[in-house]
Amino acid sequence: MSFPHYGPCERLAEMPDDLVRFLALVGNEVMRARKKFPKPHGLMTALTEEVGEVAKALLDEPWSRVEEEAVQAAAMCARLALETDPTLTPLRTKRGVK
Ligand SMILES: [Mg+2]
Repeated sequence: MSFPHYGPCERLAEMPDDLVRFLALVGNEVMRARKKFPKPHGLMTALTEEVGEVAKALLDEPWSRVEEEAVQAAAMCARLALETDPTLTPLRTKRGVK
């Protein structure tokens, strides 16, 4: 993991409790999703689906469902950043992106 355009990370101990809990839940969801779907193929589609579910929950469901969907969407963002989505490699190559 590199993320060279970011500086040093804040220490977990310095983060507010609600943020630490959210990030821990995202970590749990990443591990659950990796077990269920080990390959990162299609992560962009999965992320898009989860973002749609956040929007749906925001409009029609209790706040607890918004939180659940937000964790799932954040987990897909984390996987995408850490694992990429190989299904997009041909398109990125065609567009000249490295
Ligand atoms: Mg979902």
